[in-house]
Amino acid sequence: MNICPKCGKTSDEIRFIGPFCEECFEFKIKFPKKLEYLICSKCGMVRMRGKWGKYDQKAVEEDIAGRFRGSFERADYYLDSETAIFYYNIDGKIYEVERKFSVNFVKVNCPECVRKSGGYYEAILQFRGEKKKREFFANQAYGWLKKKTFVSKVVERKEGIDLYVGRGKTVVEFLKDMGWTYRSSRKLSGEKEGKRFYRTTYVVRFE
Ligand SMILES: [Zn+2]
Ligand SMILES: [Zn+2]
Repeated sequence: MNICPKCGKTSDEIRFIGPFCEECFEFKIKFPKKLEYLICSKCGMVRMRGKWGKYDQKAVEEDIAGRFRGSFERADYYLDSETAIFYYNIDGKIYEVERKFSVNFVKVNCPECVRKSGGYYEAILQFRGEKKKREFFANQAYGWLKKKTFVSKVVERKEGIDLYVGRGKTVVEFLKDMGWTYRSSRKLSGEKEGKRFYRTTYVVRFE
């Protein structure tokens, strides 16, 4: 018969894990000192493991669960109750250990939203030629581009419509998708993070 050195209960009364009864046995779990996630207050994106992505509660919970260390077999984390559950398998018996753990969500503006609000753009897409067509297609382009990047400015001119677009690559994708012929010109417009920064203007003309 074992006697628990902490509480004095015996192995006749309660199950034992090593020298201690299962109530007194210490499950050693290492928690991160501080766990913080950046979350964008404008678009709701979250920064996880150095990358910005769409907020997905399950993915965040899994990420948190992956930060705990110990001899448990599995850990689950629940944001709503700020609870972690650890599953131990000791001599074939499963033990569930519950611990409270809170995570900080720090509200910031993500780089994409910072660019957007700063009027950032990499490309200008110009619609020229026949008025009705250029208006129709500029409108269509605006909807398409907004889903994949952002349009920081729309300028209506006498000769046509200019869209100032966040990402240049997305404009090229769009033009290819539409199968239009276009002209493009690149202009050096300063430096960004030590590199030369170019802006490209694309012109589509409708007959
Ligand atoms: Zn005990
Ligand atoms: Zn954002």
